[in-house]
Amino acid sequence: MQSSFSFTKEYALEQDKSDKLASFRKKFLFPQHNGKDVIYFCGNSLGLQPASTHQYIQQELDDWAKYAVEAHFMAKNPWYSYHEMFARPLAKLTGALPDEVVAMNQLTSNIHFLFVSFYQPVSGRYKILCEGGAFPSDEYAIDSQVKFHGHNPSDAIIELYPREGEHAIRHEDVLSAIEKNKNELALIFIGGVNYYSGQVFDMKAITEAGHKAGIMVGFDLAHAIGNIKLSLHEWSVDFAVWCSYKYLNSGPGSVAGAFINERHAKNTSMPRFAGWWGHDKNNRFKMEKDFRAMPTAEGWQVSNAPVFSMAAHKAALDIFEEAGMDALSEKSKKLTGYMEYILREINSKIEIRNPNLRLEIITPKERGCQLSIVAHGLGKSLHEKLTANGVMADWREPNVIRCAPVPLYNSFEDVFRFGEIVLQILK
Ligand SMILES: *Cc1c(COP(=O)(O)O)cnc(C)c1O
Repeated sequence: MQSSFSFTKEYALEQDKSDKLASFRKKFLFPQHNGKDVIYFCGNSLGLQPASTHQYIQQELDDWAKYAVEAHFMAKNPWYSYHEMFARPLAKLTGALPDEVVAMNQLTSNIHFLFVSFYQPVSGRYKILCEGGAFPSDEYAIDSQVKFHGHNPSDAIIELYPREGEHAIRHEDVLSAIEKNKNELALIFIGGVNYYSGQVFDMKAITEAGHKAGIMVGFDLAHAIGNIKLSLHEWSVDFAVWCSYKYLNSGPGSVAGAFINERHAKNTSMPRFAGWWGHDKNNRFKMEKDFRAMPTAEGWQVSNAPVFSMAAHKAALDIFEEAGMDALSEKSKKLTGYMEYILREINSKIEIRNPNLRLEIITPKERGCQLSIVAHGLGKSLHEKLTANGVMADWREPNVIRCAPVPLYNSFEDVFRFGEIVLQILK
């Protein structure tokens, strides 16, 4: 497959022509650079705005104006049950049953809420296995949870790192860490896709290994949902959390989500921090004193639905419904493969001129659409020049560029033009 790629404009345009998802690009709003769409590779950080979002939010503003409090039941999409519209699409995106998923809160809040249920340290079994250098918010959350339970983070948190000189964490090292600590681990909590390297973890095998040793297993899917295909139910994962503003294009700080395996969701006596929106919905407005959890993921909700951010979420998920994760995943492999090919072509061209310049892809083969690139011999000026040339990519000190060609709205032409610009800068 790789050898069929070509670093020419004709090739890129041809691929766009035969791309069944090409028309989805028009559904998104691109920032402009010199009167043209920017080449946007930051979908791993903040997805683009769907052109339809405005109208979805306007609907709720109109219903608020028209019905006020009665909109909870009389709105076109009644607010009382607004969140229920997400059960099916989120189940599809995560490979779950509709009763196992819920749109609620924010990502880091959900980490805390689900740790209340799934991190239950007992004497001797109190440790958490996670990625070293995880997203800072996850590190803070894990650290504070451990302290909250009276443990010392430096003892209770076991971090996985790549081996010396490597960039990805080897699967065998994850398994051996589980094996080595199997009697002391209470929880395994890892990003399904590492935010920095773009590495996809083998969630099925990690869950299996954890369960064999009696350990709860959860995943942070911030960089996985909408990026790779997931089968949380089939993999028997205990719980998962995600945000919706990255690959899911639901807007800054928009409503997040959670998965709770039905074997836990049905257990209404599972410990949790409760709120009225998690209470049995048939009796919610009786306003009775004793909390009775719903036997689904909804039983973890605390507050009533943030309808405006959910309206943006709905606009975005309707587009995913139309595109389908199978088609997106197929295009993603090809589009990211094309970017990889072009970077290798550039390397072979610049090495001749300057052996000190090299673009090293540190993302392993197990990946979604993101490529993390170490620009050897180049400083921040590369990123500045990319920006000046209309490429929005993500820069991390000292010399890493993260590029996510997103199958929903990026084109082969985007990737080609990016390649041309990089080559021009390096020359
Ligand atoms: C983006 C991201 C976050 C952000 O957390 P918020 O609570 O949404 O602010 C947390 N963790 C990971 C792994 C992320 O990628």
